[in-house]
Amino acid sequence: MSQTTTSTVLLEHHLKQLKLPTMLREYAAIAASCTKDRSDYPTYLLRLTERELLDRERRAAERRIKEAGFPVVKTLDTFDFSALPSINEQMVKELARGEYIDKRENVLLIGNSGTGKTHLACALAFAACAQGKRVRFTSVTALVTQLLECREQQVLQRLHRQLERQHLLVLDELGYVPFSKVGAELLFEVVSRAYERTSLMVTTNLPFEEWAGVMGNERMTGALLDRLTHRVHIIEANGESYRLKQAKKKASASSRKSKPKN
Ligand code: ADP
Ligand code: MG
Repeated sequence: MSQTTTSTVLLEHHLKQLKLPTMLREYAAIAASCTKDRSDYPTYLLRLTERELLDRERRAAERRIKEAGFPVVKTLDTFDFSALPSINEQMVKELARGEYIDKRENVLLIGNSGTGKTHLACALAFAACAQGKRVRFTSVTALVTQLLECREQQVLQRLHRQLERQHLLVLDELGYVPFSKVGAELLFEVVSRAYERTSLMVTTNLPFEEWAGVMGNERMTGALLDRLTHRVHIIEANGESYRLKQAKKKASASSRKSKPKN
């Protein structure tokens, strides 16, 4: 074996051992381009390490997005702010920068059904993933079911620890289904533990006065609201359902088309 072949084999082995897949894939091509523009050794190493870092960040973001459990992928680009003037566009854009997560602040999206609350929550949480934050997206009902199951199997602490590792916990759709007493207590514990540790983002169709009806307990609801709203950004999404509006638009356009000309 020639010296170059031996070096190449060893180099590739070491890069694999060191878990540097991008450097392994690219070292030869980057060496060729560095030879071409007469770059020095440090520049070669710099280019290689930059590629590895970029790829590593991309892989990590993909992993975070997968682990977050988004129901659908929605981004802010596809959100039409002109459709619902009650939504504070500037606040949403500010939140997309993610500083509220560093400050452990919460976000509440309140409004009637179909006004884009879940869309916005997905988009904001997606932006957080891209910024390197660990996110968990779950519907309130699914979380309560999971909490009850974990309690039954005596693995509740494990789930709490898992939730506490997150930077942002999105609780979608509070208020559609009322909980059992135990379910409400378990949810309250999640909110309590998150207090000043993990940012919470909650979407709901319920005005505050009606939360006690779903939680089934005035005092606990008061304590929950107290924690949730201590440092909170509130996005109000009130108005006509986006889907309904689109459907009406479509229907009126097609009825105009089918109308005979006189
Ligand atoms: P909510 O959670 O408030 O009930 P969703 O976020 O589920 O509403 O919105 C219902 C559907 O309408 C989704 O497909 C969402 O992407 C779309 N939608 C709602 N508002 C807007 C908007 N302003 N621009 C674009 N799509 C929207
Ligand atoms: Mg929703």
